[in-house]
Amino acid sequence: MAFLEEPIKKVKTIKNYIGGEWVESKGEIVDVVNPANGKTIAKVPVSTKEEIDSAVAAAQEAFPDWRRTTPLARSRLLFRLKELLEENFEEISRIQTQEHGKTIDESRGETRRGIENVEVACGVPTLMQGYFSEDIASGIDEWVIPTPLGVFGVIGPFNFPFMIPLWSVPYAIATGNCVVVKPSSEVPNSQNRLAELAEEAGFPPGVWNVVHGGRAVVNAMLDHPGIAGITFVGSTPVGRDVIYKRCGETGKRVIAQCGAKNFMTIMPDCDINRTVAAMMTSFFGNAGQRCLAAANAIVVGDDDAFYRSFMDKVLEQASKIKVGYGLDESIQMGPVRDKEKKANIMKYINAGVKEGAKLVLDGRKPKIIGDYPDTCFVGPTVFENVTPGMKIGAEEIFGPVMSVMRAKNLKEAIEMSNANPYGNGHSIFTQNGKSARDFQYNVVSGNVGINIGIVAPVALFPFSGMKDSFFGVLHTQGKEAIRFFTESKVVIQRWF
Ligand code: NAD
Repeated sequence: MAFLEEPIKKVKTIKNYIGGEWVESKGEIVDVVNPANGKTIAKVPVSTKEEIDSAVAAAQEAFPDWRRTTPLARSRLLFRLKELLEENFEEISRIQTQEHGKTIDESRGETRRGIENVEVACGVPTLMQGYFSEDIASGIDEWVIPTPLGVFGVIGPFNFPFMIPLWSVPYAIATGNCVVVKPSSEVPNSQNRLAELAEEAGFPPGVWNVVHGGRAVVNAMLDHPGIAGITFVGSTPVGRDVIYKRCGETGKRVIAQCGAKNFMTIMPDCDINRTVAAMMTSFFGNAGQRCLAAANAIVVGDDDAFYRSFMDKVLEQASKIKVGYGLDESIQMGPVRDKEKKANIMKYINAGVKEGAKLVLDGRKPKIIGDYPDTCFVGPTVFENVTPGMKIGAEEIFGPVMSVMRAKNLKEAIEMSNANPYGNGHSIFTQNGKSARDFQYNVVSGNVGINIGIVAPVALFPFSGMKDSFFGVLHTQGKEAIRFFTESKVVIQRWF
């Protein structure tokens, strides 16, 4: 594809994919706007309860045959999907940049991580095997059969339009369930392209459904008796107070992966160059809109010379980040998703100034490469002298804002991280094994990084989270996802 080529060329009204058909919604229609250039790229429906009902009905109808399809045959369709995803890799990545704003390299990384989940789920014939004990009592045998449950709802956030539903969908369908995906209506194009490829791969009608919309659609899914379980990725207030609560009330199993405020602990013995390089992508990659983005840096110790040289490097690197339209290969940071999100980030930056933190790099009026309106751009922003109690030190900003704090020793740094209600992805940068071990052991965080800035588990491992960052028991991805999407049927047998 040519430089800057946008894959979505015509503004179309997005359809739902229900029972193998592309169906126009009867709901209200909303614009999807490219945050870099302000152009409308699509129109997305706010689907109705009836449309969710018909998607669940289609999935329920498909379930008995899909369940009977052998795991090997289900896996072959996933292999075919993987091939199609590879063939369309660049187009899929460019759609993400066009609808979300992230840089094309970040989108390529997202596509790769999404495909890896399809690859892992291809292992379902062995991943889904049960286990057997002969003679649990004399002449009696017992075994477990992991069985699919029926229909699952998959609800996605805006920040990884392509990858996040793939933390669930390949495992759900590999194990013999059917799905209804509800993408974020801010970024609906990626999931429709994925569903087109699933259709081309040959998944039977009704196995993989997509219904667009917002909270009304989610509420209809939560209340629907035909849905056995929900996976949700999004903010804590929605994940905890709406999803987890309602799934409890309606008896659905649930994974709710939620918000974050991630702390990076910087030890004075770290490799400064490598640490700062990792921090740049961690704090400013995806314009700070990652649940694993770093938010707070705690510099440990009273060595002022170390602190200054560390901060000088941070500021030198952060101020060089090129901001612009992510389809330009030279750009290192794209816009945030929309102007409301920018306004929210501005509110936090202004609050930081007001609360007495020192604004040492101000991203409020960034230099934008290229001729783009500055509606959604925020440049890298760095505050020093932040304390954990300040709004910018305590709350999820979800933007490119680094808050730098100091702690007298590692113990205090860990206490500061643990005092925050979130526990998603905390990291330490050190060359000392004992410090790394103490950190890993004591920090309360679902994902822990040691000299790693973005602790994103690969598809073989569960995508974890603790405290207010996660509600549920099992996690998406890998073996835990296989477990989540199946129920253990226990058989005990005796023959007379
Ligand atoms: P969000 O909570 O606003 O929306 C998530 C989904 O819920 C969307 O599909 C949306 O349509 C729906 N929704 C929104 N409000 C709702 C309501 N009141 N009732 C029912 N449904 C509702 O989240 P977002 O802004 O799209 O995503 C950003 C958030 O997601 C951040 O907090 C980020 O940390 C979190 N996130 C977490 C992870 C993780 O793995 N822990 C990964 C990515 C993003």
